Amino acid sequence: MQTGKLIVLTGPSGVGKGTLLRSLLQRYPRLVLSVSVTTRSPRPGEVEGRSYFFVDRNKFQRMIETEELLEWTEYTGNFYGTPSIPVIKNIKQGKSVILEIELQGARQIQKTFPDALRIFVLPPSKAELEKRLRGRGQDSEEAIVKRLQRGTEELEAAVEFDIQLMNDNLEDALQNLDQILFHFRE
Ligand code: ADP
Ligand code: 5GP
Repeated sequence: MQTGKLIVLTGPSGVGKGTLLRSLLQRYPRLVLSVSVTTRSPRPGEVEGRSYFFVDRNKFQRMIETEELLEWTEYTGNFYGTPSIPVIKNIKQGKSVILEIELQGARQIQKTFPDALRIFVLPPSKAELEKRLRGRGQDSEEAIVKRLQRGTEELEAAVEFDIQLMNDNLEDALQNLDQILFHFRE
């Protein structure tokens, strides 16, 4: 059986990664979205095991020590990581797996999975990024400021990626993402 593809989707917080992925997964139920582990608190509506596996810092630390994570990082005061086993299992079964992760994690994956397809999602402007982040209405002012600061740094790394995907008009971005994945999954 042919192995599946590993796809990494990154970009600043609020750019629309989650929104793009939700639509994409509806269209392609065979794509698997990796569910990360995080020490951040759940947002309203987030579901354990579907949005994230929410764990405390001790549990996260143990997962690092027992090498259960494919990559991990600290992001604006919380830890985030990708559990290895489901990713490896799905790829072996021929399914394509998407990691929606931040820049440091994407760089780690570049080293361990050089064949992964790495996509960076760009906002049309920093002002629009801020508008989206605020418009989502789910983060504290402190978190928004930290995320915008981190996002500005992340944007400088967009050129490191195989593909830069502009998310201005959502439908256009979705169509482009569709084409990129279809092309690379050939
Ligand atoms: P991320 O997962 O990258 O942090 P989200 O998917 O949560 O970002 O999107 C942040 C906010 O921006 C949400 O309120 C979402 O509805 C909005 N959004 C996403 N894409 C677009 C777009 N193309 N145009 C306008 N608003 C968008
Ligand atoms: P949020 O708190 O908004 O859900 O996520 C914050 C950031 O962490 C986003 O950029 C998201 O892509 C990233 N992220 C989510 N899960 C992981 C993960 O497993 N590893 C890494 N490195 N980043 C992650």
